[in-house]
Amino acid sequence: MGRRLLIAGNWKMNLNLSESVEHAKAVERGVRSLTGVDVLISPSFISLAAVADAIKDSDLQLSAQNCFYEEDGAYTGEVSAKMIRSSGAGWVILGHSERRAILGESDDDVSKKLTRALNEGLKTIVCVGEDMTQREKGTQLDVVKNQVKASLDSVSAADVDNIAIAYEPVWAIGTGMTASAGQAEEMHLFIRGLLGETFGDESAKNILILYGGSVSLPNARELLECPDVDGALIGGASLDADTFIGIAKIAEELSKE
Ligand code: PEP
Repeated sequence: MGRRLLIAGNWKMNLNLSESVEHAKAVERGVRSLTGVDVLISPSFISLAAVADAIKDSDLQLSAQNCFYEEDGAYTGEVSAKMIRSSGAGWVILGHSERRAILGESDDDVSKKLTRALNEGLKTIVCVGEDMTQREKGTQLDVVKNQVKASLDSVSAADVDNIAIAYEPVWAIGTGMTASAGQAEEMHLFIRGLLGETFGDESAKNILILYGGSVSLPNARELLECPDVDGALIGGASLDADTFIGIAKIAEELSKE
């Protein structure tokens, strides 16, 4: 019997309210009968509550794409982890490279957001990954090590069940370029080793490490077959229901091997 994989869709700043509900319903219909795979979707904040309602009787899981680190208060425009919980979502994605690069989010911000999200009972996907210059210089392991250590610095062993890591090389996000299976497995194994140093090898084995970066129907199988790739975080391809469902079906097949 293979592993249980997580297939997560990051819709980014796409789809309005009604489009999000329709898309969520289409994904739900397509993955309803699948076994051995967990599927998660991440609409924008605006659509979370309506999507939660649309999929409430299903196993499809729901995530926000960000949260703020304070509990509540005078933070105009921010959304708290508690608000996300109240919308019906059980997950939040943190430290996505677009937030790090475009919105200036630091490892310290990610660490504080992670602490808040875990305190509010959310499951979390923490994104890490090097950019092209860093890979060309051969510093990708150091870059990812620093991100993992700094982002997870305040996490206790009791929280490990609520953490997943997404390794998303920045050069592969939305570019159509993807890490080779070898590059992905090397980094995932490295991250698992780092998690083992912090939480112990037994816990590290159970932490999901997702790959993200131009995952598509043609490349999904090769990436998901890697022993330390526990699933995928999918941007562009998650906006096409048939493609996203197709990738979830590949994960289901692999769970039966
Ligand atoms: C992402 O946004 O997390 C992502 C991996 O995007 P894409 O699949 O489009 O590269």
